Amino acid sequence: MPNKTDYYIPAKFFVERDHDRCIRCQACVRQCPYEATFYDAIDDKITNIHANCVNCKRCEFICPTDCITVIEHRSKFVKNHTWPDDLIENVYEQASFGGIKLTGMGCDKKYPVYFDHILLNASQVTNPSIDPLREPMELRTFIGRKPEKLEFDKHGKLATKTHPQIELATPLMFGAMSLGSISYNAFKTLALAASKLGTASNTGEGGLHADFYPYGKTIIVQCASGRFGVSAEYLNAGAAVEIKVGQGAKPGIGGHLPGEKVDTLISTTRMIPEGTDAISPAPHHDIYSIEDLKQLIDALKEATEFKKPVGVKIAAVHNVAAIASGIVRAGADFVTIDGFRGGTGAAPWQTRNNVGIPIELAIAQVDTRLRDEGIRHLASVIAAGSIRQSSDLMKIIALGADAAYIGTAALMTMGCTLCQTCYTGRCAWGITTQNPYLTKRLNPERCSERLINLVKAWSHEMKEMLGGMGLNSIESLRGNRLHLRGVGLTDTDLDILGILPAGRQ
Ligand code: SF4
Ligand code: SF4
Ligand code: SF4
Repeated sequence: MPNKTDYYIPAKFFVERDHDRCIRCQACVRQCPYEATFYDAIDDKITNIHANCVNCKRCEFICPTDCITVIEHRSKFVKNHTWPDDLIENVYEQASFGGIKLTGMGCDKKYPVYFDHILLNASQVTNPSIDPLREPMELRTFIGRKPEKLEFDKHGKLATKTHPQIELATPLMFGAMSLGSISYNAFKTLALAASKLGTASNTGEGGLHADFYPYGKTIIVQCASGRFGVSAEYLNAGAAVEIKVGQGAKPGIGGHLPGEKVDTLISTTRMIPEGTDAISPAPHHDIYSIEDLKQLIDALKEATEFKKPVGVKIAAVHNVAAIASGIVRAGADFVTIDGFRGGTGAAPWQTRNNVGIPIELAIAQVDTRLRDEGIRHLASVIAAGSIRQSSDLMKIIALGADAAYIGTAALMTMGCTLCQTCYTGRCAWGITTQNPYLTKRLNPERCSERLINLVKAWSHEMKEMLGGMGLNSIESLRGNRLHLRGVGLTDTDLDILGILPAGRQ
């Protein structure tokens, strides 16, 4: 077996400490879950193993004298344009352990972020803008199948049969994150915030712990290939059911929660024995065609007495529009498309960085296809995967989504610093860990207030931008690509996005 002396990996980060200001309180030692900080009793000095540091920033945050700064390490691999640092590191690491390199969060490679090449419109003189402080502005969004047209009887009463809907106060939900991949307190933060905001959180594939049944009206329950925690009671506890087929960060790959993380809490929620691996196979073993998927959709609708919308979540891949069309024709009330920059607790590094397509292109293509086929009203479209700010949300809605999930931004309100080591189960902020010493760092009541603030802020900004466009409801923006213009995009990009270049009327 090779040992550490067989190859060279410089530390990625360097923990600088002003020893004159350090009061040796050792808070940084206790707070570092990555064994990167130690107290040297002989010299009465705090010291670091820089190679273990993942730049989670917990020590910087906790230090009472602000004497820590974590910086990028000065020593790098030999510079080579063909071989960037991370590829060299990957070869050394894999030559050492012979396995799949894992990572957490979403793709951080320099692929184009189309959101940053799209601009929104605003009214001037004609079709004047609307002041959202003085005039009503509607962000309410309904997720579910809509009738083609509405008919009324002779008494003016609605005669058209309507389908079950989820009503959202704002077109923003919290994406699927299972109890197990995130801590109880992180799960509670999302559930609390969603219920106070009148939007929805999502169980992910890990079931719903009994403590969260009271929040069911604002929780979408997932049914994934592992069927963890799925029972009639569970399906009926939620506001809607989402069949998980794929995930943006790892299209075509299943999930795996190692047995050591399956404690009593996770085992009772997922309905599996304590200490056993929770494996979600990549495919649903009963789905090999759209007809098979239709059977599962029908079964879930029957199990919920046709009172809940049933949707399907897929990863954004090359033929996403055709797949979405099939899903809608199979009877799904909503389709969730998860873009390749979407976050995850754990994914193979190669898959996360190289598989899938950006959400902007996927939503534009799905919306176009469903409209061309005359079936756009049959299902809502939910976007996920790297919605970073309110303008991204506006742009994805104008490209064709009804609403979007946020995941990474929601975790950032709990302290997430994007250190990408969620898969280690040692999250210093108590988010992606089941370690009780770490999870108690996250206060669900306080963090849910921060998350509520974020969503409120984005909602205010959306109202401002909508008013600026002369629109008074978010529904008027959906798929309205005339309000978008592209900058620095190729003709092909513009064609796929279905938008005009900036400067063109
Ligand atoms: S937390 Fe700050 S003051 Fe306390 S031991 Fe660490 S570096 Fe020194
Ligand atoms: S891993 Fe986090 S807590 Fe530990 S030294 Fe690095 S930044 Fe500080
Ligand atoms: S959730 Fe925790 S481990 Fe994952 S990226 Fe955020 S801070 Fe790092």
